[in-house]
Amino acid sequence: MKNLKFCFLAGAVAVLSLTACNDDKMEDNVLPNSQTENAKIEQPGDLQKSCSYVDQYWSSTAVLLTGLQTSADTNFMNGQMTKIASMWGRSNPTLRFVNDPSNFNSTYNAISYSNGKIYYGYAIYADAKNKGGDIVNAMILAHEYGHQLQYAFNLPSVNESTARPNELEADGFAGYYLRRPNGYNKTQFSEIASAYEFAQSIGDYQTSSANHHGTPPQRRSAVRLGFLLGQYSLSAADFDYNFFYYYQGVLNGTYKMGKNSRNPEIDAYMSQYMDELRKIQSGEISAEEFKKL
Ligand SMILES: [Zn+2]
Repeated sequence: MKNLKFCFLAGAVAVLSLTACNDDKMEDNVLPNSQTENAKIEQPGDLQKSCSYVDQYWSSTAVLLTGLQTSADTNFMNGQMTKIASMWGRSNPTLRFVNDPSNFNSTYNAISYSNGKIYYGYAIYADAKNKGGDIVNAMILAHEYGHQLQYAFNLPSVNESTARPNELEADGFAGYYLRRPNGYNKTQFSEIASAYEFAQSIGDYQTSSANHHGTPPQRRSAVRLGFLLGQYSLSAADFDYNFFYYYQGVLNGTYKMGKNSRNPEIDAYMSQYMDELRKIQSGEISAEEFKKL
């Protein structure tokens, strides 16, 4: 919360200088180290191009853009956005990009807003692409879209005192997308290993923070669980049911072994992987071994 004071100050300045911008509320983001309070903030609306101030969740010098640095990158992300939304049978949310040439690292985030918008930072895009290629950005975007599903369907069905179930379920939605034939269509888990590695790298151990996103092992286990559930075509609500049926395993490896009466065929399939998921969570399966699963 070290940026709290700065953010409120920046918001106050925006109220005075950019009255054409609309109020909005931030609901979620991919990283744990951002603001979570639901204060009124300013956000570019119709006069988007003239609004240099994005909102309080980005630096005061950040700018909102409709594209990335190259048209190939922009086309890739817009194409993924369409694919993700259509896989879930829904129309596209508004995808925008945030750059800040004077403070590039400040754009290392992606945020999903309750009004149907997703803002994606230049820095996280560049780092993800550099570390693991296009698939990592596809995963992050699918994670952010997972929050749109949560807004739309009043998910997750499990509530905790932190954002953990929201975040781990979003990781699961992303893993699911990477596998589905009408999604990213990667049938072998080794093909999504770089996405898994990235999910782990942005976990956190701030377990009592309201904005806790899950530990690194929990985040990779959540991606793996979502990928396994991608064996089946599920609605968002059915995904939620099944994700939380096995959620204890994501948290601590103690997978519920009772019968999944709602989807017994999924239970039979998942039972093959319970021990493996436990080992992922506990670290008994190393990162190198994980890539070969
Ligand atoms: Zn998130």
